[in-house]
Amino acid sequence: MVNAYQNALSSPEPSLALTPISSQPAANDAPCCLICAPHPDDESLVGGLAIRMRHQEGWRVVNLAITLGSRKDRKQARWHEAQAACNYLGFELASPLGIQEQAFENITLDAFEAQSPQWLSSVTELATQLQIFKPRMIIVPHALDGHTTHCATYHLLMQALPLAKLTERCHLLLSEYWNTQLSPRLMLALSPTEVGQMMTATAMHIGEVMRNPYHRSLPAWLIDGARRGAERVGLPGQAATGMNMAALYGWLVWDGTLHEGPKALVQLGDAMPNFLSSTF
Ligand SMILES: [Zn+2]
Repeated sequence: MVNAYQNALSSPEPSLALTPISSQPAANDAPCCLICAPHPDDESLVGGLAIRMRHQEGWRVVNLAITLGSRKDRKQARWHEAQAACNYLGFELASPLGIQEQAFENITLDAFEAQSPQWLSSVTELATQLQIFKPRMIIVPHALDGHTTHCATYHLLMQALPLAKLTERCHLLLSEYWNTQLSPRLMLALSPTEVGQMMTATAMHIGEVMRNPYHRSLPAWLIDGARRGAERVGLPGQAATGMNMAALYGWLVWDGTLHEGPKALVQLGDAMPNFLSSTF
């Protein structure tokens, strides 16, 4: 078995799919799932839930590029890599400044703690984007997701939410990548097809996967998600869920104040829990 894993990891890189997952656009009145992606590639690495909302539930998915990474010479290229991945996934790509190929700068825990003028301006700009997109669901890293820009993106959103004065309930699904989280609440089974789509979209961030082939380790990460989720979202000691690969998310609900969300195990093909239950 170990040899099978080893062989899979060293298999040649397949050519990238050029045709999008679906040519079906979201309906004009489809609810919006907004991804607050700290970096281009995060929308693909944690995108299982967004893929399900877009292609099974018919939602609109907008990938808000919170930053374009720290390397100035790569920013333009990273925007275009994100655009290719979003075209493939059926997501829209948006700038938090409303300016193509531009994003926030210096989204770090130091800037958050200092509440610098640049940070406060980013908070205001993000609140404006929330008013524009009126998301019913936001996917954002959890507060302790390891990388400073991931952690700071969580805090940026939390600071912007009250300013946005959303008039409908919004579900915050907390993704994990650099660190696992203490209290995952949604365990989402992912099919080999969906995991392949996440890998393909990640590989479209060509400059990043040349540095480190993040796409190739995704199945292992999601296999481990199925192991952890059975005990951490399900009850400790309960029977295995039958899921082979799963993505885990924390779950908060914003309706003017913040609440803990429900717990849910969502199998392949299951309808998602009702995200549109009530307004306030
Ligand atoms: Zn990242």
